[in-house]
Formats: sequence, C-alpha cells, structure tokens
Amino acid sequence: MDFFIELTLNIFVFFLGSCLGSFLNVVIYRLPAELSLLYPPSRCPKCLNQLKAYDNVPVFGWLWLRGRCRYCNSKISPRYPLVETATGILFLLVFWQFGFSLQTIAFWTFLCWLLALALIDLDTMTLPNSLTQSGLIIGLLFQFILGFLPNYNLTQGINQLIAGVVGAVLGIWIFDLIIIVGSMIFGQAAMGGGDAKLAAMMGAWLGWKYLLLAGFLACLIGSFVGGAAIALGLLSRRQAMPFGPFLALGAAITVFLGELILSTYLKVFFPLG
Ligand SMILES: [Zn+2]
Repeated sequence: MDFFIELTLNIFVFFLGSCLGSFLNVVIYRLPAELSLLYPPSRCPKCLNQLKAYDNVPVFGWLWLRGRCRYCNSKISPRYPLVETATGILFLLVFWQFGFSLQTIAFWTFLCWLLALALIDLDTMTLPNSLTQSGLIIGLLFQFILGFLPNYNLTQGINQLIAGVVGAVLGIWIFDLIIIVGSMIFGQAAMGGGDAKLAAMMGAWLGWKYLLLAGFLACLIGSFVGGAAIALGLLSRRQAMPFGPFLALGAAITVFLGELILSTYLKVFFPLG
C-alpha cells in the first residue's frame, strides 16, 4: 500500500513539473517576442491551428503525435517534450531532497525561473528584465516566508530577508568580477547587463555563500565548455557565448549539492575549524 502511495505521489510531482514545463515552453517562446503568455492558446506555429486539449498533455501529446502537427503534419521541435521532461525530473529531484516543505515549493519556483532564463538566453542572447526582476522579488519574498513561518518569528523572517538582499547586492558586485575573469578567458567582455541582474536574482534566492559557489561553478563550467567549443571549431574566439545558461546551471547544482560541496570544502581546507 505504501509503495502505491509513494508511486502515485512521485507520478503526481513529475506531472506537475511537466505541466509547468509546458507553460515554460510558452514563456520561452513568447516572452522575448513580447507576445501574450495567455492568449491565444497553444497552437501550431506553422498552420496556426489550435491544439486539442489531449494533444497538449505534457510529453505524451508530443509522443502520440510522433512529433508532428495533427493538421499540417509539420515537425514539432523535440525541445518541447524535452523541456517538459526536464522540468518534471527537476521537480522530482527537489521533492526527493526536500520533501513536503515550503523549501520544496521555493526551489521549484526558483528552478522554473532559471530554466526559462537559460533557454531564452540560449535562443536570443538576452535575459528579459521582467523575468530577472520578478525572480528577484519572489526570491526575497520566499526568504522572508522561509524565515518567518517555522516559528512565526518576525525577527527571523527579517534576518533571512536581509540575507537575501545582501546576496542580491553581492550578485551585482560579483558580476563585475566575473566580467574581468571572463574577459581574460574569452578575450572580450563575456556578458551583457542581463547577467548582473540574473546574478542578483540568484543571490536573493541563495544568499551570499551559495551565490559565490554558484558563480564559481558557472565560471568553471563556462570556461570548460567555451574552451572545448573553441578547440572543436564550434565557436570562434571573438564570438560571444551566452553566460546566462552557465549561471543558471551553477545555481541549479548549488540547490542540490551546495551544502555537500561547501561542507566538504571546509573539512578539507579547514579540518580543525
Ligand atoms: Zn500545423
């Protein structure tokens, strides 16, 4: 019996994630084009026929249509079901690690924002202000609630809110540092102004310690990938590479492994502390 409850719960969490992933697809596609997110309902980009409700089911809709539009038979990008699947898996991972808690809802929200921003940056080389700013404000809001709710302690709520503000401010500072390091690695300013706002948003959610870790991971992975892409001739040294996806990846890794990485680091380098 327990097994079936557990299974149902996991399926529900995945389904919830993939539904939100389906909406993220809409956000990723429409927000940079300044189209409405709610109207018109999902339709084929080629023939503009509106999707049937059952074709709109995350992941499965694409599968039983075999990746083609029901009406005009044109191909539907596999990116749609991939984003839905990825969001579902991220939701499961958060749920497994943080269980039934407000922290779970907070990280679900954070990861949705990160995923949308990363893919929009990949597509358009921009990070829309509307997303980074709303992400920052919601992050600060969650900080306050996460501090306040457990004991209805206002001081604790405000302390956590301040920690978020400090993280956000540091995000902007650290961004200047990343620009210097990035320009040494890539030979040019590697980032646009949107990256500073993304870093500030990440600081609001993660606080300064984990923001530093996320920024470090982003630089590390970004320089590896950038170096490899240049070595393989996929990218010229002068070509700009979006940095947002690496920041988002660094933040996502920090959500899941941040505590482990920081405590291991402290044990190795400060064993007596
Ligand atoms: Zn069509």
